[in-house]
Formats: sequence, structure tokens, C-alpha cells
Amino acid sequence: PSAGRRRLIVGNWKMNGNRQGNDRLLQEILQGWNPLKDTDTVICPPFVYLQQVAQALKSCQIMWGAQSTNAEQAGAYTGEVSASMLADMGCRYVIVGHNERRRLQGEDNAQVAAQYTAVLDAGLIPILCVGESSEQREAGQALATIESQLHAVIDHAGLESFAHAVVAYEPIWAVGTGKTATPEEAEQVHGFIRETFGHLGQQLTILYGGSVKPSNAAELFAKADIDGALLGGASLNAEDFIAVCQHA
Ligand code: PGA
Repeated sequence: PSAGRRRLIVGNWKMNGNRQGNDRLLQEILQGWNPLKDTDTVICPPFVYLQQVAQALKSCQIMWGAQSTNAEQAGAYTGEVSASMLADMGCRYVIVGHNERRRLQGEDNAQVAAQYTAVLDAGLIPILCVGESSEQREAGQALATIESQLHAVIDHAGLESFAHAVVAYEPIWAVGTGKTATPEEAEQVHGFIRETFGHLGQQLTILYGGSVKPSNAAELFAKADIDGALLGGASLNAEDFIAVCQHA
């Protein structure tokens, strides 16, 4: 990352864990983790474990967040969780538009934009995920795909809203596959995202996500436009999680 921007490492547990296993993982993280001067660290467990994570992390500098939210404030939305509830639970960040939600829950750009706004309205920081599929990359459509994902949110919430947001670039073909974008491929897209935000671009925190692990984190973080990572698999193992944080 370039000097001046803080670094950020976010662990996305996805739909993994149980109370006993979480306790063990959190204990191991707390034992091995040292606060880092320029790096913020966040853990995003499933909703039902937010209380457990909040309790475990309350006296350390690791923050917690959620993996998703509903865009509505309250009411008859069975099974859903609002951004104000997440704020009430002490969350600081909320992931929006993760490709698993776009693909598996059918969330479209308009819903992602509405969720993004709901997160900001609740005083929390959205982590907006964008990224292309392998078909889109092969067809030369990677940047156009990302641009339209970004513009759906910019048009809805305004460019200036990104002063309080984080963007995560996650090529779908690299998520959970063990196949990472090369640092050069990632850097190219990060540079493009920064340009899309014009004068705000230099302040924006842009994470890379997709099979980040201790063995490839350092070379990714060495790139000027990569400010940190959104981790899936590596966030479920204390040693890997801590090692990636230390590379930031
Ligand atoms: P991965 O997941 O690190 O397991 O590839 C990243 C993500 O989906 O955020």
C-alpha cells in the first residue's frame, strides 16, 4: 500500500464455525496477535456469533463486522437483519455485494446499492465487493464489469459517500479456488478502481480478496494500490490470519 492510507485486513468466516470452535480460534488469535500501528483488523462471523465475537474481542483492537445486511430499517422481513441492529451489536464494518450473495442469493446491483446506503446510514463502514467471473475476464470484460458494479453504487449513493467506505476487488475465479490473481493483475484493477473515483481515489482503501494466504500476502501488499485483504479460508486458521495481518 502507499504511505498515508491505513491498511485493513478483514476476515470473512462465511457460514463456518460453532461456539466451541470459535472460542478456540478467538483464543488462538488473541494469543498470537499484536496490534499493528498502521493496520486495522476486522472479523466478520455469521450473525448468530456476533455476540460471542464481540465478547471475546472487547478488550483488544480487533474490530468485528457482518457479512451482509438487509437494506430495510425494520419491520416484516422474516429472517433478515438490519444495519442498525449490526451497529447495536458493536459492528464497525459490513460486507456488501460479496459475489456469493450476488450469485447464490441473487442480489443485484440495485439491492447492493441499497444495502450500501443502509450501512452508511447506520454509521457503519460498507466494504463493497466487486469482481469479474472467469468468463468475463476471458471475454475482455473484467474492467467493464467492475465499472458497472461500482457505478450502480456511485449513481445511487454519490461519489462522496466513498470517503466513508472500503472497496474490495475479488475476482470470482480466485475466491476459494486457491488460484490468486497475480500481484500485477490485481494492481491493474486496483489502479482502475482508484481512477474511477477521481479526486477521492487516493484516499480510498481498496482490498484484494481471493485465496490470499501467508505465502502470497507480502507480494500482493507490496503493490502501491493494494491496501489490505479480504480473507475467507485464511481467516479460519489463527496462524494464517495472524501471518497475513503481519504482512500488511
Ligand atoms: P478466500 O475467500 O480467501 O477463501 O478465497 C475470499 C472471500 O470470499 O472474501
